[in-house]
Amino acid sequence: MSRPLRARLSARALATNFSVTRGHAGSAQVMAVVKANGYGHGAEFVARTLHNADGFGVASIEEALTLREAGVRKPVYLLEGFFESREITVAARHGLIGVLHSESQIEMLTASDRPPQIWLKLDTGMHRLGFEATRCAGLRTELESGARARVTGVMSHLARADESDPRATQVQINAFSQATESGRIRRSLANSAGLIAYPEARFDCVRPGIMLYGSSPFALRDAASLGLLPVMTLESELISVRACRKGDAVGYGGDFVCPEPMPVGVVACGYGDGYPRHAPPGTPVLVAGSRVPLIGRVSMDMITVDLRSTPKARVGSRVVLWGEGLPADEIAARAGTIAYELFCNVNPRVPRVTM
Ligand SMILES: *Cc1c(COP(=O)(O)O)cnc(C)c1O
Repeated sequence: MSRPLRARLSARALATNFSVTRGHAGSAQVMAVVKANGYGHGAEFVARTLHNADGFGVASIEEALTLREAGVRKPVYLLEGFFESREITVAARHGLIGVLHSESQIEMLTASDRPPQIWLKLDTGMHRLGFEATRCAGLRTELESGARARVTGVMSHLARADESDPRATQVQINAFSQATESGRIRRSLANSAGLIAYPEARFDCVRPGIMLYGSSPFALRDAASLGLLPVMTLESELISVRACRKGDAVGYGGDFVCPEPMPVGVVACGYGDGYPRHAPPGTPVLVAGSRVPLIGRVSMDMITVDLRSTPKARVGSRVVLWGEGLPADEIAARAGTIAYELFCNVNPRVPRVTM
């Protein structure tokens, strides 16, 4: 049998999370964000499963073309716009919408009989990408009168919608409303956190990412309480169970020393697969349905667990690293990161099994 580690992907959970998202979106369209290979879940799997989404958001033209090759016909948005002018032609041919954020991207647009469709990205307070919000109307006129682009939408991005203090987000919502209220154009502001916590941020189109994959965008609210189901279950098996003696040191550096005779399990999954190397001792791992603590250092291909509470565990017992029964958000918090990063880091060597 091959190495037992795999990322099991549930289409049913993904579809459920999409309905939850629609419920929050009201009458706004839903652009499913599938950049970074669908947050590590496989962009093609995600786009096929979410065939009723109104569009998809990606970070590069390569990601967009992967979707087109998979037969996705819905609008695809290049969330960082064009990186070189050659991409404008490719985008036009494949009906991709560039979200332009900089002067140099504007300069790539030349007058044409069939100007490309673009959205403008405005900076309303994140200070990362985008034009000053007050330039929105002027830029539109400039581009459309010169037949350089058809500006069909505007967007901005929220920096702090996941936090409990709403003030910074309200400032962004107000700035976006004011800059875009004149002129009929499609408007989009909210990510997962924004669309759940701020109904007034929905505008015409929302852009969920993380909630579709079943994780909570909020540190203080868990995914289950939001009705979200884990899409990815990273699962493996015990490949060794050792009867260690009192005083035996386990793994690199001998960080864990057995305080008494005890069974130690070895799981086929390590940082070379995307399990966080900084997961500290005590991080929960599900073995044969029971939570047991991680012990010692995370290796490239393995982790070790304390099996004292689970004497039934055997070589071949099923192990869940995160997913069904063990929220990725909880593992991420233990390792000092966010579930976004855990998902994106699942290595290509881990087979994705969809069901
Ligand atoms: C990644 C991204 C999103 C999705 O954010 P989540 O927090 O995952 O919901 C939305 N909009 C833009 C522009 C993004 O880059």
